[in-house]
Amino acid sequence: MKEIKNFICITCPMGCPLTVEVEGEEILSVSGNSCARGLEYAKNEAVNPKRMLTTTVRVLGGDQPLVPVRTQVAVPKDKMMEYMGFINVQRVQAPVARDQEICVLPDCGISVIATSGVEAK
Ligand code: SF4
Repeated sequence: MKEIKNFICITCPMGCPLTVEVEGEEILSVSGNSCARGLEYAKNEAVNPKRMLTTTVRVLGGDQPLVPVRTQVAVPKDKMMEYMGFINVQRVQAPVARDQEICVLPDCGISVIATSGVEAK
């Protein structure tokens, strides 16, 4: 069954309105994009939307209680809550360096890395 999906492209500040016609997993047409990046975004968003996951992890013995973290690459949107739950129970010992791997997500092997450093107390 054909379906029309509408998105705003978030790849750049232009925010082009995209229309994607899909049938199951098959992309039938894309319109509204002003460039090839928007075409790629529209295809992915229609059948396998992904987002960078950003949150915080508790730091033990640090001069700050939390360190901001993000996934190294975008993860499927439908797995966000599951991965968030996994990350929320992680703990890391200070000091924490920027870009340090904090944990690896189960079943996909994607690293979660610190986006800033935390000094030890
Ligand atoms: S389609 Fe291209 S120009 Fe438009 S928002 Fe997306 S990346 Fe930017």
